[in-house]
Amino acid sequence: MTQLALQIALPVPLRRLFSYLPPENYSVEKLVPGLRVRVPFGKRILTGIFISTTETPDVAWEKLKPVAEVLDEESLFAADVWQLCHWAADYYHYSLGEVLSAALPGLLRKGKNPATAPLTRRASRVDLSHKGRGEMHELNSAQQTAVDAIQKSRGQFQPFLLDGVTGSGKTEVYLNAIEYFLKKDQQVLVLVPEIGLTPQTLQRFRDFFAEKIIAWHSSLTEKERYNAWIAAKTGDAKIMIGTRSAIFTPFKNLGLMIVDEEHDLSYKQQDSFRYHARDLAIMRAHMNHIPIVLGSATPSLESLHNAEQNRYQYLSLPKRAGKAAMPDVQILNICKKPLEQGLSPALLSEIKTHLNNGGQVMLFLNRRGFAPVLMCHECGWMAVCKRCDMRMTYHHHSSTLRCHHCDSQKKLMTHCEGCGEKSLHTIGLGTEQLEQVLANHFPDASVARIDRDSTQRKGSLEKLLDQIQNNEHQILIGTQMLAKGHHFPNVTLVAIIDADGGFFSPDFRALERMGQLLLQVSGRAGRAEKPGKVLIQTHHPDHPLLIQLLREGYKSFADSLLKERQIAFLPPYFFFALFRAEAYHARQAAGFLQQIKNITDVTGKNIRILGPIPALMPKRAGRHRVQLLIQAATRSVLQRFLKDLVPAIESLPGKHRVHWSLDVDPLEIY
Ligand code: ADP
Ligand code: ZN
Ligand code: ZN
Repeated sequence: MTQLALQIALPVPLRRLFSYLPPENYSVEKLVPGLRVRVPFGKRILTGIFISTTETPDVAWEKLKPVAEVLDEESLFAADVWQLCHWAADYYHYSLGEVLSAALPGLLRKGKNPATAPLTRRASRVDLSHKGRGEMHELNSAQQTAVDAIQKSRGQFQPFLLDGVTGSGKTEVYLNAIEYFLKKDQQVLVLVPEIGLTPQTLQRFRDFFAEKIIAWHSSLTEKERYNAWIAAKTGDAKIMIGTRSAIFTPFKNLGLMIVDEEHDLSYKQQDSFRYHARDLAIMRAHMNHIPIVLGSATPSLESLHNAEQNRYQYLSLPKRAGKAAMPDVQILNICKKPLEQGLSPALLSEIKTHLNNGGQVMLFLNRRGFAPVLMCHECGWMAVCKRCDMRMTYHHHSSTLRCHHCDSQKKLMTHCEGCGEKSLHTIGLGTEQLEQVLANHFPDASVARIDRDSTQRKGSLEKLLDQIQNNEHQILIGTQMLAKGHHFPNVTLVAIIDADGGFFSPDFRALERMGQLLLQVSGRAGRAEKPGKVLIQTHHPDHPLLIQLLREGYKSFADSLLKERQIAFLPPYFFFALFRAEAYHARQAAGFLQQIKNITDVTGKNIRILGPIPALMPKRAGRHRVQLLIQAATRSVLQRFLKDLVPAIESLPGKHRVHWSLDVDPLEIY
């Protein structure tokens, strides 16, 4: 009989499989791909996944160690998830073992055995929160067209781009489309951005459907995660609403996927396994021959481009649903205007009017803390983070200086560290300061601040959102956290305190982001019967793209950006991959990337390599950061190039002195 070794994928960064002998007294025929095994690895015991058998292991037979234990009898991976993981490991050039491990709930990943783990599966209980049929709306014709198109595609691969202005009734379209798939006994996966899954969203689904709906997000306990995973796998739950990693959930009979706010950055994992959940969702829909809906009021340029190429069917909801009208948007030129902590007289007087009329006012400032700069008036010294060479933000409530790049912090000093004088003062405006100014200015109004600092404790965001719904606060101040999907019917005025940041960023995506943010924020105004108004404070009231965005709308703005991208050989017309390296010495990081560059050969390949160059943020947490950008004319050219290159990088000398990573389709080039 031929001798067989087992090929095991392990959760380690090395992009290869590892060979082991079968466990003693175990008949190899029982093995199926997707079982977990426990194996010795160096001094550790790891949980890996069995992939295949081989007659030719890459290590001498006598050196092979046996698998310590086989943990399962059946594969833990649904067929499509298994295929998706392989595709993703290939496409993102990441370790298959890490990808498979990331796709499992923590309990299973750690090698616990679900059958014996202390888990009580609740019998599917009657959902008491279900209030019957919520508020029923008659769909308008644009909504009906969208719902019909989605339902008609049942059982075939068809991506849709649902481009609907804020408040146009996209969620209503999802609900009505989903209903049909549930009737056909299929399940539905709804992906939402990280902070998009509010209790309000869940409640809206629970009001509409009697079926079991499960949520999947980062604050679930491991046991809750495992239960959710089982509920989807067994078909007990009909709908899962989840953030990024829900894309790896097994389903008994998946019929439809929805990616809400598809442009949102949180769909891309920004460290280790850098996958894009929206793109994986498209791939998974393709594998399963099912429809998928990407919805947004401000679609990504990638998706708009795909729609233009007829790869996606374009569905549009051009008007707000029901009685709500689009808000009236005005630019406030603040050049030469006397500003009171960033607030112009015109803005202050509008706030007053709206408060007097009983409306809520929402102010948007994308900078938390009290002030971004602490400076000495005697000598010009500034508080700087030594690990990042960046200025530290002053936080008033905690009386600390904090680096927003590496999270290091220290107590606020009383004297200047440069000259010893006691003349430190702040420059610039953060949300804490804005809160203080407004509280002083409008003593009768209650001010709520929503940012990462004010919502750290579990449940505090929910509490604040509830209070806002109940009109307990009149002035709402927030960072981009407040821009996402929330529905506050009583907000009549939205103001963007500082719109200038997006115009001058070196990131080529900055304008796209700025446009998305402006519209998403504006979309919070006048969502119900009361009309809404939006004020945008800027020093650049004549910026042509800003004017185009406001006069002609997002689509026309996006078309201009797409033309610019095409001329400049940028995504979505060109395909990027980014190597990043970090090291305590800048030379080591740059040297490593130079080695990568040296082993490449781009002649005749339609590939361009840019770098090594310092990242936009050249130092973070004490490490120097350098990058190498690969630009290719087509996706397949890029993929072929990386397929040859990445294995060669793993055997470069000096790789232990740097942290390096590869980001395919990077969203942030810094
Ligand atoms: P979006 O998801 O596009 O922001 P929603 O689905 O949340 O929009 O709808 C915005 C508001 O309009 C909600 O209060 C919703 O109940 C209401 N709505 C949606 N569709 C209709 C309709 N056809 N008729 C009346 N009201 C509607
Ligand atoms: Zn720092
Ligand atoms: Zn000084």
